[in-house]
Amino acid sequence: MSTTENTLPFIPFTRPHFNQETIDAVAEVLRSGWVTSGPKLAEFESTLSDYFGGRPVRCFANGTATMKIALQVAGIGSGDEVITTPISWVATSNVILSVGATPVFVDIDPVTRNIDLNQIAAAITPKTRAIMPVYLAGLPVNMDQLYDLAKQYKLRVIEDAAQAFGSQWRGQKIGSIGDLVSFSFQANKNLSTVEGGCLVLNNADEAKLAEKFRLQGLTRQGMDGMDVDVLGGKDNLTDVNAVIGLHQLKQLPAFQARRSSLAKQYFDAIRHEMESAGLGNLNLELPVENFTDSNWHMFQVVLPLEQLNVDRAQVMSELKDLGIGTGVHYPLITGFTLYQKLGFKTEATPVAKRIGRCILTLPLFPGMADEDVGRIAKGLTGILKKHRKN
Ligand SMILES: *Cc1c(COP(=O)(O)O)cnc(C)c1O
Repeated sequence: MSTTENTLPFIPFTRPHFNQETIDAVAEVLRSGWVTSGPKLAEFESTLSDYFGGRPVRCFANGTATMKIALQVAGIGSGDEVITTPISWVATSNVILSVGATPVFVDIDPVTRNIDLNQIAAAITPKTRAIMPVYLAGLPVNMDQLYDLAKQYKLRVIEDAAQAFGSQWRGQKIGSIGDLVSFSFQANKNLSTVEGGCLVLNNADEAKLAEKFRLQGLTRQGMDGMDVDVLGGKDNLTDVNAVIGLHQLKQLPAFQARRSSLAKQYFDAIRHEMESAGLGNLNLELPVENFTDSNWHMFQVVLPLEQLNVDRAQVMSELKDLGIGTGVHYPLITGFTLYQKLGFKTEATPVAKRIGRCILTLPLFPGMADEDVGRIAKGLTGILKKHRKN
């Protein structure tokens, strides 16, 4: 129940933005008589390929299918191990299991909240085939160190860049460099096709293989019928989704500028509010202040729960009473029942275990107002002050 007389509008933690031009373009596709994968998909894929410096790109129905097909293209399956992070959307490790491989969880870096690259070498076994890093909130890992490791141990890299569309590494777009790079266009992502995803590949052969896995394993139809030579699924992206993506791409620079501006304001507002509330000794952890590489997919804080007498759910509920929506991205994957049943141990990754319990996503989306940032910072610090242990 709401305990405050709150008349201010509710701020969700995120909200997609589709302009009138996009809506008109969707209507046009619907009227055209060709609504599933066709000319708009081809145009979207070639536009994305240009965006990624000419590397081949194929689109899929969602980011999960994109990552699964990336694993299949890399030939990863039964008996193989894939090194990944336990702080991600569960899709990351679910796809590893779904191809019959085993996820090997390496702890995260408490500052970046991404997989700790320094701990990967110790997790490599003769069965290790790939590393699947996740760029949480759009902050990439150190790409030089990642690809040095891959080269040294002869491993494939499947980047779960679901949250990193528009992110960079030393001036180069994520996706324009590297091995297999997977993006999601789900509704909450920086670029959305409602649902969708794309995979950046190394060459035409890989692209052909990805197309086969995308559609039932079908080899090209010839004059004397069709053939199927691998087990594929039904994971194609439609023209309706593709045309949305084409229009979102045009707006991406504006979206990006707005996200960065809001993130900058968050740092100032939170530090200011913490100081004026006399909370300098509370260890509220802010994100890495990176305004060159991150696309600011999310603004996440790590709550100092050991210094508070409430849990995260209570903080979220009190923020909700103030009209502020928040999210948890993410709880520790190895804590889920399925992963517990499979024998994974939450204690194996202590940093991830703590952060999975304390991380909180604050609202951040291009349509958010500057004033919202101040309201959120004030609301959060007020709650921290109220529940601080003495
Ligand atoms: C969104 C997301 C996915 C999955 O993408 P879907 O399009 O929802 O299938 C995978 N990994 C991460 C880190 C994500 O944020």
